[in-house]
Amino acid sequence: MKNKTADFYFPAPRTSRYCSQCATPITQLIPPDDNRVRDVCESCGAVHYQNPRLVVGTVPVWNNKILLCLRAIEPRARTWTLPAGFMELNETTAQGGLRETWEEAGVRVGLGELYTVIDVPHANQVHVYFLATAENDHVAPGPESLDARYFDLDEIPWDNLSFRSVSTTIRHFIEDHKNNSFTTHYYSIDANQPY
Ligand code: ZN
Repeated sequence: MKNKTADFYFPAPRTSRYCSQCATPITQLIPPDDNRVRDVCESCGAVHYQNPRLVVGTVPVWNNKILLCLRAIEPRARTWTLPAGFMELNETTAQGGLRETWEEAGVRVGLGELYTVIDVPHANQVHVYFLATAENDHVAPGPESLDARYFDLDEIPWDNLSFRSVSTTIRHFIEDHKNNSFTTHYYSIDANQPY
């Protein structure tokens, strides 16, 4: 690889500085017949639309316990999380949830029902979790996890969870488990509310 000077790699900011088609610096303006400011190339005319990203994950359950992973990476390193991550191209949400569960925890699960669909507008994301069942408590944390283990419902590390979509999904699970009635929950997380 020529001109390689990076010591490490990181996710680039969502807004590119240059047009990916012709390398002209990006201009922000409202294109004709549009109603929002977009990243536009005034040289070649390309409009670089940005849309929310999908985060897909699972709620893996074994013996009435929930699998959580201790994050090895930022953001929110060293906090516990449900296995989840950005959906990849050419996969379904279900495949993405299974893949993330395998990559982060080394756990193969049987996928259950769609469980939570959570809008996170301030982060421009939608988080989707599926119920999932593990056959045993074997774990093999991948490079993005420092640890992975199953927690009893009364020993969830509430003070050290990664994201509000994780804590709200676990709260719904505990409530539904108490009522012995699981249903899909759709809601949005407001940046100004604690959870
Ligand atoms: Zn261009």
